[in-house]
Amino acid sequence: MSDFQETLYEGYGQRFQVDKLLHEVRTGHQHLVIFENARMGRVMALDGVIQTTEADEFIYHEMLAHVPVLAHGLARRVLIIGGGDGGILREVARHRDIESITMVEIDGALVDVCKELLPNHSAGTFDDPRLRLVIEDGMRFVASTEEKFDVIISDSSDPVGPGEVLFSEDFYQACRRCLNEGGIFVAQNGTPFMRLGEVQTTAKRLHGLFADWHFFQAAVPTYIGGAMTFAWGACCAESRKLPLETLLQRYAGSGIVTRYYNPHVHLGAFALPQYVLHAIAKPSND
Ligand code: SAM
Repeated sequence: MSDFQETLYEGYGQRFQVDKLLHEVRTGHQHLVIFENARMGRVMALDGVIQTTEADEFIYHEMLAHVPVLAHGLARRVLIIGGGDGGILREVARHRDIESITMVEIDGALVDVCKELLPNHSAGTFDDPRLRLVIEDGMRFVASTEEKFDVIISDSSDPVGPGEVLFSEDFYQACRRCLNEGGIFVAQNGTPFMRLGEVQTTAKRLHGLFADWHFFQAAVPTYIGGAMTFAWGACCAESRKLPLETLLQRYAGSGIVTRYYNPHVHLGAFALPQYVLHAIAKPSND
């Protein structure tokens, strides 16, 4: 029985026992492997970095999808950058009031493999009539589209390889341009305990772009090294300051059933530890 050793961090990492290797390929963009592990279910890694596991993906996908959509309250047009496994798509599609979902994923081969080998992630939502799937670099799409969106979700891999551009100033500026009035941008932003610089860099780049920017967190077991942080950029400050009652009403009204997300967790997720607050405070006095 072989092992999978994650190589995200020098000298520190997680190991999975590979109970069954399901697929391994070098696509035009990255090395992709999907294997079975008795404890975590089916696991996908890209370029040696764990992307998603069947066991804990609900935490990440529910938070990255429902926090912006329920905070917005009237989202009709959603843009997903990356997210080729379909987990974000599944959660966004639960919101029946959303009229259009555009997904821009750079790796078409990855989408095909995930449809087949991670069917529970997308749960058939690649066939949702509201979906327009665009196989393209997300940076190129947001730089050139004339379309506007209410919520933009960047569900990218880490800032190495094809994902690197999705953490750039140009990308954030282009996403801001593509938002309707009252729009919200969110993005996967790594685990600050391991890479505090990533959060600091994003803070610098969001500062001055959005009326309100911050981060929210969730502990995702297979994103090792502490809580996973999500970047938040909103066109109006009120989006992050909703009363609990409002979120409770929106959550109940949406009719969605979740395993991790709820309005209490939503509000609590924006409470950041002191070392993270201290690190992101710098943009204001740089
Ligand atoms: N949940 C994971 C995480 O937090 O690391 C991310 C999952 S998803 C598999 C990441 C996706 O981003 C992959 O499908 C990858 O192909 C896609 N991606 C990477 N760079 C991209 C780019 N420049 N444009 C569009 N999609 C990109």
